[in-house]
Amino acid sequence: MKKAVRVRFAPSPTGPLHIGGVRTALYNYLFARHLDGNFILRIEDTDQSRYVSGAEDYIKESLSWLNILPDEGLDDNGPHKPYRQSERKEIYQRYAELLLDNKLAYYAFDTPEELENMRNRLKSQGISMPQYNCHSRSSMVNSLTISSDEVENKIEAGEKYVIRLKVPANEAIEFTDLIRGEISVASDTIDDKILIKSDGLPTYHLANVVDDHLMGITHVIRGEEWLPSAPLHILLYQFLGWKESMPEFAHLPLILKPEGTGKLSKRDGDKHGFPVFPINWTDPASGDKSIGFRENGYLPSAMVNFLAFLGWNPGTEQELFSIEDLVREFSIERVNKGGAKFDIEKAKWYNQQYIKLLPDADMGAYLFEELNQKGIKADPEYVTRVAIAFKERITFLHELYGISSYFFIRPESYDEKVIRKKWTSINIEFLNNYAAELNKDYEKFDGDLAKRIMQPILDKMDIGMGSVMQVLRVTITGVTSGIDLMNTIELLGQREVSKRIEIAIERLADFVK
Ligand code: GLU
Repeated sequence: MKKAVRVRFAPSPTGPLHIGGVRTALYNYLFARHLDGNFILRIEDTDQSRYVSGAEDYIKESLSWLNILPDEGLDDNGPHKPYRQSERKEIYQRYAELLLDNKLAYYAFDTPEELENMRNRLKSQGISMPQYNCHSRSSMVNSLTISSDEVENKIEAGEKYVIRLKVPANEAIEFTDLIRGEISVASDTIDDKILIKSDGLPTYHLANVVDDHLMGITHVIRGEEWLPSAPLHILLYQFLGWKESMPEFAHLPLILKPEGTGKLSKRDGDKHGFPVFPINWTDPASGDKSIGFRENGYLPSAMVNFLAFLGWNPGTEQELFSIEDLVREFSIERVNKGGAKFDIEKAKWYNQQYIKLLPDADMGAYLFEELNQKGIKADPEYVTRVAIAFKERITFLHELYGISSYFFIRPESYDEKVIRKKWTSINIEFLNNYAAELNKDYEKFDGDLAKRIMQPILDKMDIGMGSVMQVLRVTITGVTSGIDLMNTIELLGQREVSKRIEIAIERLADFVK
């Protein structure tokens, strides 16, 4: 029987979660849901020097906003708790000792100066990337070069030490990446990486492998930047006797700058004025603020769809995928090898599409709330009708009020250019006549009728509809653009439109040409 799928998202709380990290979380989530597996959140906070307060909450809030909810780890609850690595210190220590006992790891006492000297020595020998490895370790101060008594004495005397992995010489480390295929790396190119630091905490490598094993992770899906670490992890699985149950690996392509070269960074966001973080972030040390997609007006559904397509495609023309669709269609096989170019216009397009799909009542409620905050009273049903009328015209919900405000507030000024050109006595005569028609009683007033009652006036005055439409719009709304004019008149209502014409004529009396 195949093992139940278990995947994890394992961010380090070193700052705000980059959009690439969010995509990693999403792909893990989709993969797990597609295969009826479990999705785990693990906080990898063993590097205390890079710990940033607030970052863990930020990660959790971002995932919650996007509804990428883990089955374990969000509230630190679940069968494998704690899910925060800093609280699992003893566990890693145990496995480091096991490796020491089996001579697969060793103590190293080198001071920073000694390490620096080693690097300089190797460089002077023409080695451009000096490493602590099978060649250089013999000339250093470690438990392979000094006696066990000396090791004991040093530890007892409180000398600082680290525990390093003893990477074997001349071995090919091979594995299959689900996205990149067969990978083979010569062990000589791998450093004797530190497993336990001098502060007693494990490094990412040891903690990551131990936890993936203990938490029963079946697939490690993570960013491409971790690909160079994978051979080291494979060695660790082997050394710890876990090779048989080792997870499968899938390294996701990078998210590239809009220009297509290099990894997308915060600086690109600053340069082009778009967010690269899911939600707002204020750096606790510098006070620097970064704007989030959420606060910029992106809907979570649009964001999820946009992110899913940054590196994956369904192999069809379809671009709109709800989270349920994505769960059904997602597969690692369809994840691209090449980097995915970040395109903010695409993100906006997705937002537009998802706004169109919003239920009418939600659109109405949003605008109603906005009006409420501005102290503007309006009938909720009317507000909803206005909101729907603008559905096709906005990219973000926060644009709604700006372009529809004249439905709630009478214009206070009128487009100057149009008034200068079109505020003629003939047009005013038309407006007066039209206002009078609007003031009559009709059985059912709508946009069609608004147009029908206009025609006889135009005929009588011998002018075309085209010559008055713009001035009529400006008189009613103050501005030159908006939704269909007859629809505008229907929504505002005949008496209100008539009143607005009357007010404009009075106000602009001095402008008549
Ligand atoms: N803690 C690592 C990070 O911050 C996780 C890498 C992995 O998924 O193995 O990205």
